[in-house]
Amino acid sequence: MKLYNSLTRRKEIFIPRFGNQVSMYTCGPTVYHFAHIGNLRSYIMEDVLEKALRYEGYDVKRVMNITDVGHLSSDADEGEDKMLKGARREHKTVLEIAKYYTDAFFADCGKLNIKTPDVVEPATNCIDDYIEMVSTLLEKGYAYPAGGNIYFDTSKLDKYYVFNDFAEDDLAVGVRDDVEEDNNKRNKADFVLWFTKSKFEDQALKWDSPWGVGYPGWHIECSCISKKHLGEYLDLHCGGIDNMFPHHTNEIAQSESYLGHEWCHYWFHVHHLNTNDGKMSKSKGEFLTVSLLEEKGYDPLVYRLFCLQSHYRKGLVFTWENLDNAAATYNKLLSRIAGLNPDTGATPNLEAAKAYQAKFQKALDNDLNTSMAITSIYDVLKGKDLDDATKLFLLEDFDRVLSLNLVQAAAKVRAAGKTAAASGSDEYAIHAPADADPVLAEEVNALLLLRYEARKNKNWAESDRIRDELKARGIELKDSKNGVNWTKT
Ligand SMILES: [Zn+2]
Repeated sequence: MKLYNSLTRRKEIFIPRFGNQVSMYTCGPTVYHFAHIGNLRSYIMEDVLEKALRYEGYDVKRVMNITDVGHLSSDADEGEDKMLKGARREHKTVLEIAKYYTDAFFADCGKLNIKTPDVVEPATNCIDDYIEMVSTLLEKGYAYPAGGNIYFDTSKLDKYYVFNDFAEDDLAVGVRDDVEEDNNKRNKADFVLWFTKSKFEDQALKWDSPWGVGYPGWHIECSCISKKHLGEYLDLHCGGIDNMFPHHTNEIAQSESYLGHEWCHYWFHVHHLNTNDGKMSKSKGEFLTVSLLEEKGYDPLVYRLFCLQSHYRKGLVFTWENLDNAAATYNKLLSRIAGLNPDTGATPNLEAAKAYQAKFQKALDNDLNTSMAITSIYDVLKGKDLDDATKLFLLEDFDRVLSLNLVQAAAKVRAAGKTAAASGSDEYAIHAPADADPVLAEEVNALLLLRYEARKNKNWAESDRIRDELKARGIELKDSKNGVNWTKT
């Protein structure tokens, strides 16, 4: 697999250090608020990367931290403590906030079919590890105490700005004007490894350390949690591009100074999701979360498809119109897959499948070209040399990486169609407008069958979601004794 490596600024063939074992680390969320869909774009693309590696036969061990302490609002060491801010906002303790938003994060991940990493480690679990690493950095002369805190001395490194040729002025990035500078730092780029003195008198979580009662800096978390679970060498480190500096730069500084050798060779960074207002988290004042997508009637997997349709190294513009287009694509695929017959009794033709699998893998191998990988779905649906059993086999095979659940959703459509037919009543006869476009009619049909099934199971939320999704596409429904009529507005 060829991947773009942010460290070397070119595409490289990915070769793990130990045979087919891949150690993979992902910076997890700071659990003080709901994740917005821009953050989740990174987790979706990292999930695809992990699954692509597994698809290609690698044995992946993936670790993620949960930041529940020490992350200040500027990403550098200034600003407010994010966890304290969340706790104050909601009149809860820091631990309650951490628990609540950790659960919310994984619930969102579940809806987006993001696999939970093999190891998930809250930062507050690893205090002894931070103390050990900070002590060693002090012994080796890479750190110094000042004003009660322990700082990393960036002047001790030959090259600190590993990802880019940042000028010193770039350090101002992410630092707000109203944030005062820390005069304890010997060099502007130095950062805190351990806080004892801080302006946060009400810091809830504090631990004993050789330097006094305090708490760890944000960056040290990832260096220690990675080492704890993945050892001295890491194959692949992922994160959003906004983590590249200062967070990942600082992780490398700490880890390599501590270890005395290169730590991680491949760095995978996912670019921003932007809205038309240029912001990543909000659109017209609405905070963009998975729950908001659901409230507006979108299946979260439509958002996953939206992300997969573009390359992870390109900025992606989020608009509701763009999401509608992704929903239309999703439903088109769904209705076409529902038209395949799973009960032919034929076994898949694995020989014929090979060429399709090879093309799919080639797309992934080309720096995770997910939009090209999605065209493989169309190739399969059009494949003249493939019977339905082989088509379904291939679609399931690709879904090990893409995780769009198209085959399962299509099976539900078929089952609902059968139930509707067997009911012998008009209860769910679908009446389309006479001049309806046949392709559109087929998509709407598939969705209405899913809605029928949902209503039968008294799953009103799902039934409403489908109605809203159709409404978002200009389709109005009218239920009656004789079934459902739909019109296009
Ligand atoms: Zn990190």
